Formats: sequence, C-alpha cells, structure tokens
Amino acid sequence: MHSNIPVTPVTDTDSATAWMSLGNCRNYPPATFFPSDGVGVDRARKICNNGCPVKDQCLEYALAERIEHGVWGGASERERRRILKRRKLAV
Ligand code: SF4
Repeated sequence: MHSNIPVTPVTDTDSATAWMSLGNCRNYPPATFFPSDGVGVDRARKICNNGCPVKDQCLEYALAERIEHGVWGGASERERRRILKRRKLAV
C-alpha cells in the first residue's frame, strides 16, 4: 500500500537529547539504570564509566533537569545531589 511513498529515516540530531542514542546504555535494558540496590548502582556506573562517549553530557543533562532517579553520567542519585550541593556552595 505505501510502497510509492519514499521513506526518509528521521534522525533528530538537533534535539537536546540526541546524544542519548550514542550512550553505552543503548545496549542494555533501561531498568539497568534504575537499580534498586547498591549492587545495581555499581553495575550501571561501570557501564557508564566504560568509555561512554556522552558521559559528560548525560551527567549535565541529569543535573540541569534535576532528574532524581537512576544512574546518569556515571553518577547515582546521591552523587548527583552532592554535585549540585557542591556547585551551589561554590557560587
Ligand atoms: S553515561 Fe551512562 S546513562 Fe549516560 S548515556 Fe552513557 S551509559 Fe547511558
């Protein structure tokens, strides 16, 4: 039915979150990054710290958006709270 319609793949490279598709986590189920215990947090952080090419962007995004849950940019929820606190104190 739609064979005459040209199909153009849509890559949203301008999106503020386009970097997400480049992260190491793309090869894992999302739940890996929303662990319920310390072992899970360590596992997720290892994936981030294993050369994720967008780690810095990921961390800054989570900090800017005040994302409370999950591991982002190799940092747990607690670590991100600490980073935000440190930055507030530094201002
Ligand atoms: S830093 Fe971690 S959560 Fe962020 S994109 Fe990379 S692998 Fe995914």
